[in-house]
Amino acid sequence: MGITFRFKCNKCNYTVMTSAGHDYGMHAVVDTYICRSCKVIVDVCVGEYGQTYTKEEIIQRKDKSAIDMEFFVCHDCGSGENLVKWSKWKRPCPKCGEKMEKDKKGEVMCWD
Ligand SMILES: [Zn+2]
Ligand SMILES: [Zn+2]
Repeated sequence: MGITFRFKCNKCNYTVMTSAGHDYGMHAVVDTYICRSCKVIVDVCVGEYGQTYTKEEIIQRKDKSAIDMEFFVCHDCGSGENLVKWSKWKRPCPKCGEKMEKDKKGEVMCWD
């Protein structure tokens, strides 16, 4: 089961629900990226059923996902061109670059 946490930037008040890294759900495997064109943090689907794919593997795989998901794509703009991995340690805010903090009072959500 995958779990997301709320992260908050204290400088610009940007908040996001994210798994904050590699996480496994029932079906989907996600990892956390910044989309530089949308300036948001997105949990990007990087695999399914416990298997993580690399970008190269996705390009080679012509068949679509068994559970109809798109891999390595920002769901806001539908493109994977500007995805950069979000560092769990540095936790940069995609808007202003400040370090984001986990909101301890924030809700925890199960996504799968
Ligand atoms: Zn910020
Ligand atoms: Zn985007």
